Amino acid sequence: MYVPDVELHEAQSLEEAAALLSRFSPHARLLAGGTDLLVDLKSGRLSADHLISVSRVAFLHGITETEDGLRIGALTTITQLDRHPVVRQRFAALRDATSQMAAPQIRNVATVGGNVVSAVPCADLPPLLTVMNGAARIWSTSGERTVALASFFVGVRQTVLKPGELLTAVFLPEQPGRFGAAYARFSLREGNSIAVAGVAAGIQLGADGRVDDARVALGAVSPTPKLVAAAREILVGEEPDPRVFAKAADAAMDAAEPICDVRGTAGFRREIVAVMARRALTSAWERARGTKP
Ligand SMILES: Cc1cc2nc3c(=O)[nH]c(=O)nc-3n(C[C@H](O)[C@H](O)[C@H](O)COP(=O)(O)OP(=O)(O)OC[C@H]3O[C@@H](n4cnc5c(N)ncnc54)[C@H](O)[C@@H]3O)c2cc1C
Repeated sequence: MYVPDVELHEAQSLEEAAALLSRFSPHARLLAGGTDLLVDLKSGRLSADHLISVSRVAFLHGITETEDGLRIGALTTITQLDRHPVVRQRFAALRDATSQMAAPQIRNVATVGGNVVSAVPCADLPPLLTVMNGAARIWSTSGERTVALASFFVGVRQTVLKPGELLTAVFLPEQPGRFGAAYARFSLREGNSIAVAGVAAGIQLGADGRVDDARVALGAVSPTPKLVAAAREILVGEEPDPRVFAKAADAAMDAAEPICDVRGTAGFRREIVAVMARRALTSAWERARGTKP
């Protein structure tokens, strides 16, 4: 399999990227790390005559602390996210995903923006960023807008991005006190293996130790990172313990819409969802209590 003949353009700014996209539309695609796009071009799933690289656009790079959270530039690689000191100190749950995704060679070029915009059901960051109340910062020549990740994904490989819009960053709000998030995934081997099922959980504890709020999001077993409303209903107001987590995990299992493929049957995936949900909820609770980094 070879990448078909394409013309590569290197945009120096967002404006130039937009102009190139518009000029060569509908035969142009934006290129970040290329770990999804080049595979799709090779396999023939997607086609393009022009690739618009945004690697030189400074605004898309870097992780910045803001007054109210963390701005993760769309071109931040998975390795950069994994190693960033602020992520390690204050957003450590992200490392549940970044430390397990793909392999170091891929993590060195794969970007956060590409992982989010690809909107592939098995992508690891979207469920986790969703339970951490992440938002997509979107730019076009008409202006900027922010969309909560909980509303960003609309279907398999489909997002709310309109033609001409670029993702500039993912924003994570400062994680409140007594809040913890976690992600648990199952894959068939340790390296370079996409998730068979993944579950992200976020738990907000009240002063009395009960659950004030909770979010459980599914990965790889639904078209989008699905938030499980029934799990939230089970958890809120309860004193966290393995029995409550097991009930919420069963709700997550019931909400899953898994497919059968070479990595596992739908039934197997459902069982795995329950196990991953229990693990993610337990880790999120430990982080909310401050007993886990
Ligand atoms: C061997 C291998 C293993 C993998 N393992 C995993 C894994 O374990 N977990 C996982 O989640 N993923 C995995 N992936 C998938 C992939 O590495 C990730 O999804 C990666 O983060 C995509 O980022 P990228 O920079 O390579 O995106 P690209 O391939 O460059 O782009 C992906 C899509 O997003 C669009 N795009 C990119 N940036 C922007 C932007 N700023 N604004 C608008 N559109 C944009 C592109 O046009 C394209 O459609 C794996 C891939 C490979 C090849």
